[in-house]
Amino acid sequence: MADPPPPHHPPCAACAHQGRPSCPAGCPLAPYFPADRPERFEYANLLFGVDGILCRLEAAGPDTGL
Ligand SMILES: [Zn+2]
Repeated sequence: MADPPPPHHPPCAACAHQGRPSCPAGCPLAPYFPADRPERFEYANLLFGVDGILCRLEAAGPDTGL
């Protein structure tokens, strides 16, 4: 038999890049950089860096209510 599945989802590509074992609750990057598309994060990281990505996501905001 194979090993049982892990109790949580794997980290998104951004969290995996930062060495996290899993995403924090409400990880803002998970919707943009799913674990199965690491090349998307690598490309964005080359362009903006992790801090730049976070700044841009905060600036864009999913739903600010405005
Ligand atoms: Zn994450």
